[in-house]
Amino acid sequence: MRSVKIENVSKQFGQVHGVKNLSLDIKAGEFFTFLGPSGCGKTTTLRMIAGFYYPTAGKILFDDQDVTRLQPNKRNIGMVFQNYALFPHMTVDENIAFGLQVRKLTKSEIKQKVDRIRGLVHLDPYGNRKINELSGGQQQRVALARALVIEPDILLLDEPLSNLDAKLREETRIEIKRIQSELGVTTIYVTHDQMEAMAMSDRIMVMENGYIKQIGTPQEVYHRPLSRFVANFIGETNLIEATIDAIDDEYIQAKTANGLVLTGRKHQSSLTLSHMIGDKVFISIRPESIHLDKGDNTLTGKISFVEFTGISVNYIVDFHEFSLKVMIVNSSDSLKKIGEDITLNIPYDALYFLGE
Ligand code: ATP
Repeated sequence: MRSVKIENVSKQFGQVHGVKNLSLDIKAGEFFTFLGPSGCGKTTTLRMIAGFYYPTAGKILFDDQDVTRLQPNKRNIGMVFQNYALFPHMTVDENIAFGLQVRKLTKSEIKQKVDRIRGLVHLDPYGNRKINELSGGQQQRVALARALVIEPDILLLDEPLSNLDAKLREETRIEIKRIQSELGVTTIYVTHDQMEAMAMSDRIMVMENGYIKQIGTPQEVYHRPLSRFVANFIGETNLIEATIDAIDDEYIQAKTANGLVLTGRKHQSSLTLSHMIGDKVFISIRPESIHLDKGDNTLTGKISFVEFTGISVNYIVDFHEFSLKVMIVNSSDSLKKIGEDITLNIPYDALYFLGE
């Protein structure tokens, strides 16, 4: 396993910029995810790491080796694509063995390596099956086995679960994570699915429009987003526009246009020292951090939507100028009805102040 360093990399396609001045360090053995909406530059970055594209500017290093212009087959990477790109008329074992035959290993070496990896991805009964006789989930595992059998320094996965249905996607997500931690291979994973990114990654890079918006652990990007874009993209949140009304060492108070005052803690904030009274801010509040009682910030609004999902009761509560999504987990209270007034408690720690 090797580390990956990206230094000031840009990729231009004519007038279109794929990625802009991106710098990034991925540690050896890390599970690192590129997350963002369609067109934000995830695949372009992955392809430059694989060597399918050369950057317009900047450098890519594996450990201390400059690989910026090295051919893909000289980089010792394993890759799994969204469509698997398997050979349909060949068997599972023949598909897994392909990269080893290209590398001219002996028959017995190939057999030994294929046996081991087939076991690792739990496909032992299927070695002689043709690819077109397998389910989507099984095909996905063959693709993973084929990428892993060459013992890559770096494993690149480009939306590998998007052709699977929801349940299989979850199972396979757990499998990939298990295999990755067993092998300890440096893994770069591309997805636009924030749940997948949160569940699997050591760290996540959130991208928008060719730029890095934030890099952090799943907990950091969820609980300490640096922008509205990240707060919105990772999980569900409420965003309220307000103006700073008072600020001291511990607390920030902000007022909405209609004069509602909300108080939060200063350390729960991406604001810089230069933010002052009168500045516009956005307050991010996660639906699950709002409670149904009186407390730090007590507000009363009107229910406009109720749903029971099994794990939670979800409400939308209307105030004069905004609505709040509220998620009550583990509640044994009876459901409230649309049109009823409801009193909410938003703890100080649940408010997260954003400058952009
Ligand atoms: P998706 O999730 O849809 O795959 P992505 O985040 O992987 O999106 P990229 O495929 O990296 O996004 O594309 C980034 C930008 O670069 C987009 O505006 C895209 O249209 C452009 N782009 C990517 N590849 C090419 C190419 N070969 N020629 C021209 N423009 C390209």
